[in-house]
Amino acid sequence: MLDRSTIWPYKDGEPGEFIYQRYGHPVGAEAERQLGELDGGHALLFASGSGAATALVLTFLSSGATIALAEGAYFGTGVLFRELERWGLQVVEFDQTGTPPDGVDLVWVEAPSNPFLTMPDLEAAAAHPAPVVVDATAATPIYLRPLDHGADFVLHSATKYLGGHDDTLLGVVVCKREEDAERLKEFRTRSGIVAAPDPCALLLRGLETLEQRVHRQTESATELARRLKGHPAVETVRYAGIGGLLSFDVAGADEARHVETSIRLITNATSLGGIHSLLEARARWEGDRVPPGLLRLSVGLEPVEELWADLAQALEIPGSFPTRE
Ligand code: PLP
Repeated sequence: MLDRSTIWPYKDGEPGEFIYQRYGHPVGAEAERQLGELDGGHALLFASGSGAATALVLTFLSSGATIALAEGAYFGTGVLFRELERWGLQVVEFDQTGTPPDGVDLVWVEAPSNPFLTMPDLEAAAAHPAPVVVDATAATPIYLRPLDHGADFVLHSATKYLGGHDDTLLGVVVCKREEDAERLKEFRTRSGIVAAPDPCALLLRGLETLEQRVHRQTESATELARRLKGHPAVETVRYAGIGGLLSFDVAGADEARHVETSIRLITNATSLGGIHSLLEARARWEGDRVPPGLLRLSVGLEPVEELWADLAQALEIPGSFPTRE
């Protein structure tokens, strides 16, 4: 039942389990129970993945602290952390396939990174004395449970695979320790970076099919990555072997624009993790951090042959290689 109340009456003058929506609400509590089970920890929902990242960093770090952030992690995470430098936080980037740098206060990795699709060395991260956050948005708990590998926190943009239908903006942090979840919940209540009941209800609907969706997306992405590798217009293919996210490079910005404007079944839009396939050139957002011809593809649930037919026709790029008659 979707309960949209912001208040619940006291009984005999005593507040009950739910008091005021900013503190918590029934549909959110049920979604957090399910997310906690999936990742094996204590889950808290936030208004978005970025809201979850903000809350995590502001709760557990103080002015003067340094975050070691995986190179090539979600662009917006780096932008957020650099924004927080005004409050005295510092950010250093490192290659997450190796050991995090010494002397940092938080290690932040991404599994796999978006859009470079590298996987972190979780053993090396867990051996570091600082707490470890794994943004496992693209892996989902179906393929990776970072808390089982020594991480202290898992973060998901639930907007992506967990919601799964491109109609709900949410984030989640799953804490290994209950006392951390309590601290984070107190910050969430006070800061108001909360998840409303409606998106939580959509998340619950999404979770019912999470496993089936990501298995099929992985199957299709594996096949598309294989075929893209053999395509003459494609220079590099990046795929971690799990999930529906991959990226590939065409020769440059013009070629990438041609693919973006030629796809018909696949939608030219940002985001990832939904049931419909999306593709975009990331340079429009990330500038020269990514190659100009890098296209990120989020594979949906469409039949793989139809996806390939769409990609193949869009990759017939005039001038760069002979077009088919
Ligand atoms: N983490 C990753 C890996 C993402 O891809 C994104 C969004 O693209 C975020 C976090 C931020 O999530 P949201 O858009 O829900 O704020």
